[in-house]
Amino acid sequence: METPRIIIAIDGFSSCGKSTMAKDLARRIGYTYIDSGAMYRAVTLYCLQNGIITGDSVDTRRLEAEINDLHITFAADAESGKQCTYLNGVCVEQAIRSMEVSRHVSTVSKLSFVRTALVDAQRRIGQEKGIVMDGRDIGTTVFPDAELKIFVTASARTRAQRRADEMKAAGTPVNIDEIEQNIAQRDHNDLTREISPLRKADDAIELDNSHMSIDEQNEWLLARYRETIDRIATSKA
Ligand code: C5P
Repeated sequence: METPRIIIAIDGFSSCGKSTMAKDLARRIGYTYIDSGAMYRAVTLYCLQNGIITGDSVDTRRLEAEINDLHITFAADAESGKQCTYLNGVCVEQAIRSMEVSRHVSTVSKLSFVRTALVDAQRRIGQEKGIVMDGRDIGTTVFPDAELKIFVTASARTRAQRRADEMKAAGTPVNIDEIEQNIAQRDHNDLTREISPLRKADDAIELDNSHMSIDEQNEWLLARYRETIDRIATSKA
């Protein structure tokens, strides 16, 4: 029997290693990896670059008028081979990870028309199956029927340290206290927003990876994927 292609939804708090494990699994099983947070970040970058965000306020009228003209795509960078997020054809992978974007992204991601546009785009990508998507609402809202759902947590300090290491490796100067504050603020905003707040889907498997190495969490996820495929095969037999 051919191995079925499924949807794998990985949700959880900011910087808890979701994308590291999601990317690794996608590579190992030949799936497409989609970083839904990068899509919210790309919309935020667009707002910052085009004067739609000034100070702490968003010109929601303008953003609503322009949101359907934004094209966010993912492709491998020709030089490094690494996956890049493209905003209207321009690689914005590094720009969307800045503190400036991190500071404003949860204000943009709570707007209902932004969520509708991005959830629609995510579902279109998912029609193909064979995807691993990470975010905050993938198992609850975007793909409530995903065959495998994971909910990842880790302590705020561990997550701040991981984000700081990532930024340092990319050559960005870091202040760990500022990163931890930003993470705590985004946790709060994501948990308390009205539309699609961050929560564990009832049928998601929870993983606290505070004390796990990257290899351990990658193996853990691969094992959950194999179990899911076996379960589907047994139920069809
Ligand atoms: O995953 P990452 O930390 O890059 O996501 C940035 C922000 O995008 C989150 O803090 C959250 O506000 C928003 N987001 C969301 N729904 C998703 C993915 C991300 O609201 N599915």
